[in-house]
Amino acid sequence: MSQDYDLVIIGGGILGTSIAYFLSFLNKTKKIAVIEQAHKVAFHASSRNTGKVHAPYLYNPETKKIFAKTSFHGYEMLETYSKLKNLSFKKDGVLEVSLDENGTKILEKYLKWGKQNGLQDTDIKLIDKNELKKIEPEIKCESALYVYKDASTDYSKLTSMVMNDSVNNGINFMLDTKVTNIKKIDGKWKITLNNNYEIFANFLINAAGGEAIDIAHKTGVAEKLTDVHFRGEYWKTPKEYNNLTKTSVYSVPEYPDYPFLDPHWIIRVDGNCEIGPNALPVFSPYGYNKSENIKQFIPKMLEMLRSGARKTILDKQFQELAINEIRTAMSKSTMINRVKQFLPKINIEKITERGIAGIRSSVINEDGKFVPDVILQEDSMAFHILNYNSPGATGALPFSAYIVNHLSNHGIFQNENLDAQCGPWKFSKIIENITF
Ligand SMILES: Cc1cc2nc3c(=O)[nH]c(=O)nc-3n(C[C@H](O)[C@H](O)[C@H](O)COP(=O)(O)OP(=O)(O)OC[C@H]3O[C@@H](n4cnc5c(N)ncnc54)[C@H](O)[C@@H]3O)c2cc1C
Repeated sequence: MSQDYDLVIIGGGILGTSIAYFLSFLNKTKKIAVIEQAHKVAFHASSRNTGKVHAPYLYNPETKKIFAKTSFHGYEMLETYSKLKNLSFKKDGVLEVSLDENGTKILEKYLKWGKQNGLQDTDIKLIDKNELKKIEPEIKCESALYVYKDASTDYSKLTSMVMNDSVNNGINFMLDTKVTNIKKIDGKWKITLNNNYEIFANFLINAAGGEAIDIAHKTGVAEKLTDVHFRGEYWKTPKEYNNLTKTSVYSVPEYPDYPFLDPHWIIRVDGNCEIGPNALPVFSPYGYNKSENIKQFIPKMLEMLRSGARKTILDKQFQELAINEIRTAMSKSTMINRVKQFLPKINIEKITERGIAGIRSSVINEDGKFVPDVILQEDSMAFHILNYNSPGATGALPFSAYIVNHLSNHGIFQNENLDAQCGPWKFSKIIENITF
């Protein structure tokens, strides 16, 4: 079996699927496929997340420019698409609370970042504990950022809809299909699938999430970069807690330099509440259970020791944080106590059911430092999206439009009609505001 494609996207998460969506409207004669190893799209990070449509107040406008800008534009696009498809989009806002004066200074910085990233006075407000008590009597804190322009959704359902639209426009989604090898031969990509057969492509987009670094390495790109995987676990809380607060509550992270955000109090789009996620270091982007982690332990450790990650894992502060996270994973009470600091009413005894864990993969550079923003690597035959982390689901639609436009503008992959109507949006209108 041999097939030739103009373009192949590796990865049917929200990012790969959204890229396919825009390509499907702009190109009516090109042959395009998305390859996804799972039996459905959005099976990994794109469904195993907190489900928040994040307002861009946590992101430094200089070092996290792409995440900040795309999440800002993501809100409106997700709202519009959800309305069109009758999907839930709950404008429920979020609170970021500080437990002491130092935390309040950080909230002031977040307020500034939020405004720099485009939020208006009506979208975000710093309030003191007395004002907050009137709105959220159960929360104990020093002060809080009330972010009104934040919402909840179900990214899994949304990605399935985006896939359906793309399929209707002629994109071939190959599910249950794993890319097992890639080679450049005679100006084309020879892509081996399921260790069994090959397809060929003129152009490749790597949107493989937790495997994006491995795919890049297979094509000889980003060899100095590596990644570390963190499992974010959740605990479900009983129904009687569903009205404990009106909004989800996040607290100022203790170590903002590391991706170990403190667990949150989450109200999901269906109204159920959870606590999480923590960030337990694991050895695979699919390390949801012990057997996968044991299998990947030695290869991953060897890879990390050979790369810049060696410096990270030998760093004392990182080790302390990792041990702390291992403790929270082993002990329910350690994790829940973090949230109890600002929501004292929670009774640990009543929390018995685990939620669905998801895995974040963060890229580390050759100096052993976590890279803060998305990394884009391109040449005439491939485009790699690396380090696509939180709030990646929020920004996936505008970011995908940006990528598709960028490929055309740089003569890398020509689209047939850049003025096409893409569902509810005119493509040329979306990309007007998205520059980095
Ligand atoms: C715990 C957690 C909480 C989060 N909370 C939020 C939130 O509230 N809001 C928000 O905006 N973002 C959140 N995020 C981030 C967000 O979920 C991700 O940024 C986003 O889903 C990434 O999408 P993706 O398509 O790049 O990756 P993925 O969803 O991981 O998709 C990549 C796909 O590529 C496939 N793939 C990889 N390698 C191969 C191969 N060799 N062959 C075939 N297929 C392959 C995988 O199977 C996978 O389906 C969270 C993430 C986590 C883990």
